[in-house]
Amino acid sequence: MLKLRPLRFHTHFSLLFNLPSSHLHRKFSFSLSFSSSTSRAPNPSHAAAKAFSRAEPSESSRFVQKVLFVPPGMRPDEVTDDMVLPGSNIVIGPYAGDAKVKEVDFVKSSNRAKDCPKDDRPEFAMLGRSNVGKSSLINFLVRKKDVALTSKKPGKTQLINHFLINKSWYIVDLPGYGFANAPESARMDWSSFTKGYFLNRETLVSVLLLVDASVPPQKIDLDCANWLGRNNIPMTFVFTKCDKIKGGKGRKPDENIRDFQELIRENYRLHPPWIMTSSITGLGRDELLLHMSQLRNYWDNE
Ligand code: GDP
Repeated sequence: MLKLRPLRFHTHFSLLFNLPSSHLHRKFSFSLSFSSSTSRAPNPSHAAAKAFSRAEPSESSRFVQKVLFVPPGMRPDEVTDDMVLPGSNIVIGPYAGDAKVKEVDFVKSSNRAKDCPKDDRPEFAMLGRSNVGKSSLINFLVRKKDVALTSKKPGKTQLINHFLINKSWYIVDLPGYGFANAPESARMDWSSFTKGYFLNRETLVSVLLLVDASVPPQKIDLDCANWLGRNNIPMTFVFTKCDKIKGGKGRKPDENIRDFQELIRENYRLHPPWIMTSSITGLGRDELLLHMSQLRNYWDNE
């Protein structure tokens, strides 16, 4: 039985965007295309897109397709305003629930994808530029101080850290990219190391790509988003530091978010889920956990 708290209607950010949508987890695509294969397809069809094509969409569902992330188990014409999570484009569907973090255990650090835990539990990989607020976000999600104590020295510790949540699913802390002072060789190491993880990890439900909303779009983040898009890696944009507005002249987080999404749209056929967060004010925490729960529960049940 799902217990969802009432959600405030929220469109002011989603209305700003008119983007093609992203990937759901590849398992979503496969189960809705009735395939039992778990291998990666070169160009998997999107679950929601398949659902859309079954019937002639209404005007409102056409709009929903353009701006909202409609999760598996829902048709766009079923979406009502109160199903959209505040500060995001994410519709909450029938798989959402059980979103509380009750327990967190550090399991292991691995330096290759093939050394990661092999227990087939679903996982979410946290990725972002160094200093984006990744450690703060992990600590904030699990409500423990200093859970994420990854080394921040460029090129030194390149480890995939697995944290087991409620003994049932993982948050994975990946090395930050784009250290300002890292030598080229360290940056290249990051690239092959982490790409190996994305391309080989069958239990990856979604990458959470963290993007600092307090600054204009950065090339390295755009490159990363575009690479994930081109490789059909399922992902959610998690905009961090949404409490922060730089100076009087600085652009606001929602303007930076819109610019970022405009710049990546070509690499996504469908709409990526995105959400605003702040580890300082608590913005987006419960909403992000609820979004993760619906992806995970779908993964678990299908
Ligand atoms: P990491 O390198 O990605 O793990 O980043 P950290 O979590 O260490 O954060 C980097 C810096 O950003 C620190 O100074 C944090 O205090 C700050 N920071 C992190 N999250 C937020 C946030 O939500 N809002 C603001 N204003 N600052 C943040």
